[in-house]
Parts: sequence; C-alpha cells; structure tokens
Amino acid sequence: MITANVFDIKRFSINDGDGIRTTIFLKGCPLACKWCQNPEGLIPEIRLWYARNICVSCKSCIVACEENALRWDDRGVAIDHASCTRCSECVVACPTGAIRFDAREMSVAEALEEIKKDRPFYGTDGGVTLSGGECMVSPAFSLGVLRGCRECGINAQIETSLYARPEIVDAFAETTDKIIADIKLIDPARHYLATGVDNALILSNIRRLAQQDTNLLIRVPLIPGFTDDEENMRGIAKFVSSLGRDIPVELLNFNPMCREKYESLRKTYQFDPDEREIPQQRVDALKQILTDCGLVAI
Ligand code: SF4
Ligand code: SF4
Repeated sequence: MITANVFDIKRFSINDGDGIRTTIFLKGCPLACKWCQNPEGLIPEIRLWYARNICVSCKSCIVACEENALRWDDRGVAIDHASCTRCSECVVACPTGAIRFDAREMSVAEALEEIKKDRPFYGTDGGVTLSGGECMVSPAFSLGVLRGCRECGINAQIETSLYARPEIVDAFAETTDKIIADIKLIDPARHYLATGVDNALILSNIRRLAQQDTNLLIRVPLIPGFTDDEENMRGIAKFVSSLGRDIPVELLNFNPMCREKYESLRKTYQFDPDEREIPQQRVDALKQILTDCGLVAI
C-alpha cells in the first residue's frame, strides 16, 4: 500500500491556489529554509510533538514512558527522539493532548476520502492542493492522489520548491492542474546559504515547465532580511521575463505565526519575536519592480 506521512489537512483554504481548497501537507523536504513556516514538515518521519501552551505540567507522560525518552526541564517536556519507540504510551497518558505525534500515515485511498468530504465547497475553481514539506519527496503517494482527483473531476494543484529530478517534475506536470513554484532567491550563493541547496535545479525545472505550457504560478515568499530586497526582486523579474511566456508572480508576505512551532521543536527562531508582516507599501514597491518588467504581479 502506498502511503505518506501527512502532518496537516487544512480545509477551506483560500491561500493555497485557486478558489476554496483542501490543502494536504506532506512531511519531508529537501530544503531547510531558515524561515520555514512548517518546521515540523522538514523530516519525513513521524515524531513526537510537544505543545507547551496546553501542557498542565502533570508529568504523566514522563511516568508512562518506559524508554526514558522524556524528561522535564525549564522548558517543559524534553523529548529524546533517538530513544522514542513511538509506542504511544505518553500520548495516551497525557490529559490535554499536549504530547502527540506530529503526523499520521495515510494511504492514497484515505487521502482521497478526506478530499471528497469537502467536495461541496470547492465550487468551480477550488479543489485540492498538495503542499508540505515537499510533495515531490513522496512521488508515488502524491501522484496517486493527483490521479485520483483527476479521475473524479476534482481540480488538483501543488505547491512545490521544484527541487526534484526532471523526470519526477514532468510526471507531476502531466498530472496537475497548476504548479505553484517558489523562487525564493535568485542568487545561487544566497539561495544556498538560506535554504541549504543550490537553485540551479529549481530554475532549470521552471525553464522546462515554461516550455511545456504547464499552468504555472511563480511565488516569492517575502521574508524580512532574506528575500525582500530590491536586488533579489529585480533578479527574479529578469529571470521570469526571460521565460518567453506570461507567467504570473505572486508575492507571499511573511507570516510571523510559526514562532511557537520553533519553541516546540527547541529550534532557533531566526526573527525578532516582534517581527511582523512586511508593510503593504513595501510589498507594493516590490510588485512595481515586477510590473515594470511587464509581469503580472499578484
Ligand atoms: S511514544 Fe513511547 S517511547 Fe516515545 S516518548 Fe512516548 S512513551 Fe516514550
Ligand atoms: S502528560 Fe501532557 S500535560 Fe502532563 S506533563 Fe506531559 S505533556 Fe504536559
């Protein structure tokens, strides 16, 4: 049975493609962006997750664990993932749900069942979007879901880094109604520093998809201090203009809501706690760079 680890299903989403959508978030990503909004989606495996904000400090989970994988410190429950056998004893013992697994393994059939539940809300434009993490990390599952959607007439789109082998990207292009592809940084060295990978593969995949007439939307996440400078936007505008087709570019503003996730994972959050969305005036100025190059900026 083909399965993947799904860490979230967002219903009634209006920011993950056209219309009203059900977005399925898959674990596993080949990039490690310093600003990742879904850091729980980076590793492909299911892991234990701790939410301190709903923990009542009863320590029942620590008592329940026979592997000594849990201990208490000044930040609440600390998890030793290497010792955890995923037996679920702590999850069962927790009275508030503060300790739980961060994803569940789903089959293609189970995912399609979830998608079909929301069908009355999709209307003419909406449908399902596969996101992540990176849906191309689980190609058999993702392509199975996309084909299942196509068979029953549900619009299916993907959000992707396009950091994948060309043959995998092409298989997705054949099976998907729209590809929403990120360009985070145009300069290879800056891209490597911020994401952990070079952007040559991503840009060559975009070039090839542009030649294949794939329904493509380029999305640029606006991240303070990382991607929101004029030099980066000018470089992206130049690249998209060179593709020889009208491909719209969407600017996606920074979302400061993920700080708690970093606390749960005990990872360093790269931003000041008071960092907020980029002001609309600044976003408009960056959009102007795109429109000055003849592009459609969203
Ligand atoms: S899932 Fe089992 S092994 Fe892992 S921390 Fe909980 S009780 Fe311990
Ligand atoms: S059992 Fe739940 S509420 Fe109690 S300490 Fe553990 S995580 Fe917190």
